[in-house]
Amino acid sequence: MAADAPITQDVMTIPRKLPEGPVNIVGLTRDKLREALIAIGTPEKQAKMRVNQIWQWVYQWGVRDFAEMTNLAKAYRAQLADHFVIEIPELVSKQVSADGTRKYLVRIAGGHEVEVVYIPETDRGTLCVSSQVGCTLTCSFCHTGTQKLVRNLTAGEIVGQIMMARDDLDEWPQPGVGTGDAGPRLLSNVVLMGMGEPLYNFDNVRDAMKIAMDGEGISLSRRRITLSTSGVVPEIAKCAEEIGCLLAVSFHATTDEVRDKLVPINKRWNIETLLNTLRSYPKLSNSERITFEYVMLKDVNDSDEDARRLVKLIQGIPAKINLIPFNEWPGSPYQRSDWQRIEKFADIIYKAGYASPIRTPRGEDIMAACGQLKSATERARKSRAQIAAEAGLADQA
Ligand code: SAH
Ligand code: SF4
Repeated sequence: MAADAPITQDVMTIPRKLPEGPVNIVGLTRDKLREALIAIGTPEKQAKMRVNQIWQWVYQWGVRDFAEMTNLAKAYRAQLADHFVIEIPELVSKQVSADGTRKYLVRIAGGHEVEVVYIPETDRGTLCVSSQVGCTLTCSFCHTGTQKLVRNLTAGEIVGQIMMARDDLDEWPQPGVGTGDAGPRLLSNVVLMGMGEPLYNFDNVRDAMKIAMDGEGISLSRRRITLSTSGVVPEIAKCAEEIGCLLAVSFHATTDEVRDKLVPINKRWNIETLLNTLRSYPKLSNSERITFEYVMLKDVNDSDEDARRLVKLIQGIPAKINLIPFNEWPGSPYQRSDWQRIEKFADIIYKAGYASPIRTPRGEDIMAACGQLKSATERARKSRAQIAAEAGLADQA
């Protein structure tokens, strides 16, 4: 070897093969994007910096065209455009409720459609994101539960919903103006409470939320992201360890007998098993209280006794209880509890020392409220009788 040979030889980058067709940048984790950049010939030493630059353009500035990435060399931009695309779900239609809630129907690859809901409040704005087309679970009070699972959303389709909403809200910063100083973000919070069970699509949800939380990504604090699960016990600890966002649990009943009917996954992991798992969540994720969601169904789960049992069950868990007045949908086999009943229930919980906010239904006039979502393309519905029969109820039609 010549005396002047470098001690560390220049590493030759051997291009690895990318999948056929252009690769979508949106939804690729840092590691996956880095690998993909190296595969098209980006020197390994530069790859990390290039990931940062591209992420900033895509997730902080909302840029969809490589040509606009002015801190990259022109030839490199062209090379990126040859191999990659920057794609988000296509907005098909938008409805705006009298209360300002926006419901979007978006189309994803394969022609499937999912719904996304934006809920403006005085001090923040929450985007309710879907994780699956349909749902494998069949909670008897949930509209999405009457629809078959079509498929899991990819990470790009999940984080792409946030980007689509920022497009619609016109919330990308303008060059030279910046963002954030003018007041709270329009889209400040994300809840995984749209269609689907997020913990049954764990890897994609995790990858998408990592991008949402990353300082060079969407830059939302992990405390502004809430994942709601029906109680997929084996994935709950993973959610704490690998995502670290806030957790909400669809609890909805205080006995296994009733919960089996409302949230059938209870037959697999019952109330006791679920609660044992939840006891360790806040410690694992270093997070705040767990939200217990409780849908108020007339004469089903709304008695004083239920309220007292609920308080006893969750003893020792840092928690708040979110009471959700049932939102009806065509063919739904339940009714909303009376307002006075809901207030009495809330009062018992409050007096036991837990916050017990009653969630104001938002966007009811456009069927955008909790549990009313269902994609328009998959309307082939079960009949009212079938839904009631599966819930173990007599048909109340
Ligand atoms: N699959 C997840 C997240 C989506 S549902 C889960 O089940 O947690 C978001 C919340 O809306 C859940 O608490 C769900 O139980 C509740 N919900 C479903 N249908 C509803 C309805 N018709 N009225 C009120 N809340 C409903
Ligand atoms: Fe699925 Fe959640 Fe609806 Fe149950 S409540 S059917 S888990 S989306």
